[in-house]
Amino acid sequence: MKIFCVGRNYSEHAKELGNALPENPVIFSKPDTALLKNGEDFYLPDFSNDVHYEAELVIKISKMGKKIQEKFASNYYSEIGFGIDFTARDLQSQLKQKGLPWELAKAFDGSSPIGEFSNVKDLQNPIQFSLLKNGELVQNGNSNDMIFSFDKIVSFISQYFTLKVGDLIYTGTPAGVGAVKIGDKLEGFIGDKKMLHCEVK
Ligand code: MG
Repeated sequence: MKIFCVGRNYSEHAKELGNALPENPVIFSKPDTALLKNGEDFYLPDFSNDVHYEAELVIKISKMGKKIQEKFASNYYSEIGFGIDFTARDLQSQLKQKGLPWELAKAFDGSSPIGEFSNVKDLQNPIQFSLLKNGELVQNGNSNDMIFSFDKIVSFISQYFTLKVGDLIYTGTPAGVGAVKIGDKLEGFIGDKKMLHCEVK
């Protein structure tokens, strides 16, 4: 399976990192070894001193497709879940300065905790989601604030990559990203429903 991620999909988050708003979705990918399932602990990597959480809604692809038109894109996913796109921000800044790819800062082992999924039909639209760190609200997102919609993202990625059943798309993070340290407890919610739990070790 493949994991895609969208960068800079919420204008307030793009601003907090000093990035311009994109004309097209900013896409990067991670290998399946990045996934952390079933509430597994996240171990801070030794190559970074500034790992940030990024709470994101995640699309699960339910039907194989390529070159999908945006108007048909909703037929290719039936579930949306909650995930974290952990980012080694110090390393990412170095790579960005040099104009190099972000993979080392984004796609490392365990960088993508994934929680539960809900059927799209059961989710209130727009989708409200939030992240608590040690019981305190640190990110509060709403799918209405996405620059590129779920359908636009699915269509765009499928122009370049064949999407297969089970592929995941992390759809970008709202403002409020920040660092984690050993002992932190992260909890992800969609609406009032707890979808993810992850402890930092
Ligand atoms: Mg992200």
